[in-house]
Amino acid sequence: MADFGQIRVLGRALSSAESSPLPAIGAPSRSPIEVRVLVVNTGGTIGMVPHSEGLAPEAKKLAGALSKIPILHDVAYATETKMYHRLGIGYDTLVLPLSKENKRIIYTVTELSPLLDSANMTPSDWGRIAQCLQENYQQHDGFVILHGTDTMAYTASALSFMCENLGKTIILTGSQVPIYELMNDGRANLLGSLLIAGQFVIPEVCLYFYHKLYRGNRVTKVDTESFNAFSSPNLPPLATAEVDIAINWEAVWRANTTKKFEVHTNMNSNVGLLRIFPGITTEAVRAFLQSPLEGVVLETYGSGNAPNNRPDLLAEIKAATDRDVLILNCTQCLRGSVSLIYATGKILIDVGVIPGGDMTPEAALAKLSYILGKPGLSLNEKRKMLSENLRGEMNVMLIGNRITLKDSKFIQGIAKFLSVSCKEELEAVRDALTPALACAAAKIGDVDALKALQSMGGNLSSGDYDGRTPLHVAACEGNLEVVHYLLECGATVYAKDRFGATPLMNAVKFRRLEVISLLRKTGAHFTSQELMNIGTELCRLAFNGDIEGLRAWHLSGVSLKQHGYDGKTPLYVAKTKGHVDVAAFVKSVS
Ligand code: ASP
Repeated sequence: MADFGQIRVLGRALSSAESSPLPAIGAPSRSPIEVRVLVVNTGGTIGMVPHSEGLAPEAKKLAGALSKIPILHDVAYATETKMYHRLGIGYDTLVLPLSKENKRIIYTVTELSPLLDSANMTPSDWGRIAQCLQENYQQHDGFVILHGTDTMAYTASALSFMCENLGKTIILTGSQVPIYELMNDGRANLLGSLLIAGQFVIPEVCLYFYHKLYRGNRVTKVDTESFNAFSSPNLPPLATAEVDIAINWEAVWRANTTKKFEVHTNMNSNVGLLRIFPGITTEAVRAFLQSPLEGVVLETYGSGNAPNNRPDLLAEIKAATDRDVLILNCTQCLRGSVSLIYATGKILIDVGVIPGGDMTPEAALAKLSYILGKPGLSLNEKRKMLSENLRGEMNVMLIGNRITLKDSKFIQGIAKFLSVSCKEELEAVRDALTPALACAAAKIGDVDALKALQSMGGNLSSGDYDGRTPLHVAACEGNLEVVHYLLECGATVYAKDRFGATPLMNAVKFRRLEVISLLRKTGAHFTSQELMNIGTELCRLAFNGDIEGLRAWHLSGVSLKQHGYDGKTPLYVAKTKGHVDVAAFVKSVS
């Protein structure tokens, strides 16, 4: 297994994959779609074994053990499809049995060195996990991070901020009982995480435990004994995995950007949690707030209250905010938000404390550490970011009128026609209609119609009966304005239709050069499965003198140097066919 510091997943040149049973470019097939997931084992109970001092992680053991569990590794598929040879991968890569959605989830287990009990984790370990995600981002469709439960909520919160412009699914999971024990929760947690990370684009840092997928920065560990160890008190689960996997798409947070994924690893460690309690002394508060502390989560009573009959305490807090220490107010209660209904809460605003809404203390601490680690921000900018919802970590009260489902004339009309009136029925009508309407609007370039659908709460990333999203359609049409709008609404560039094609593949096929550039800027890239036999396709274009087709592939990030099935390059083919302009173009970009 690779060392955590230098993880590189092995992969052979694509041209050597000709024996693959998988479909060639654009060719529909009943063969399952293969997807790649990276499992990053950081430690935790899931992979622990008993030692004389108690349970501790054991290195280089997990992949071998998983390979012997039939629900976690299909030996027959790996052998029959020559998976290891075909993909040029090692035995730390395993494959799940065929999923209900006809997908083959191929996952590679890599591990942190040394493996840690999560009680020993520090922000530099968060940085190493983030770095690993960055290095392996392009080669995988999704990510699962195995982690101890003790500090999983902190790591999940931290990664949610560190992963900027995220477009793929990242899931942290672990277990209460080691996977090597007869009765354990590790197998189910790992399987559920792999099935979700491999099959759904939920572009968030999530946490999966006991059949539920949560937003990572909304959870807290609430139980040391039950398999149901986590709670997300202020946000319902993003998905539940029971008889079927049901995704709550409306709740999924999207990056709303045309920027590429990158990780920010410079977290500021001069942050802390200060829990108010009856009779807390001035000395304790003063000592806690001393330099070099730069950010504090103040855990207050109820809806954000602290004693307003303690001028000594308030003076210490004011002195700290005057020194530019950022103080965020979060409630000690498990559920609910800080608000300004009591005088004992308002007084904190007067001394410069920032209301933290319904953030968990874990998320608030990670947010402070992230914002304080960002270079070049003024104090006001930092305060503003702390009050804003950056990754779905808090509910911000909406000012002004949001158009509700009931306000929409269009939906109202249809609802009347169908004789439905209750909220649930209206939502069902909207959800059934949105994919088809949004795809139609994308086809004719009607941004206003898309805006109207979005304002009703319609999910502009949902696919039609063929799994084609509005972004696929706009990419085919070359509709740049629509592509831009959809990306800014959080549409995912990684959506695959039932043929396995992404919007980037569609844009290349239809030679939509501007759309290709924008999708690339947003981080779109091809998977190895999409590029099966690409050399042969390039040679075909060169043979036909199709310079535009070659230009589209080049813009999409594909090297024009790849060989066709017979070993010839596009340059060679263009030259022998006398296509001087094509040869000159291929040469100029190679
Ligand atoms: N102490 C362990 C850890 O956090 C507990 C667990 O994994 O459940 O690593």
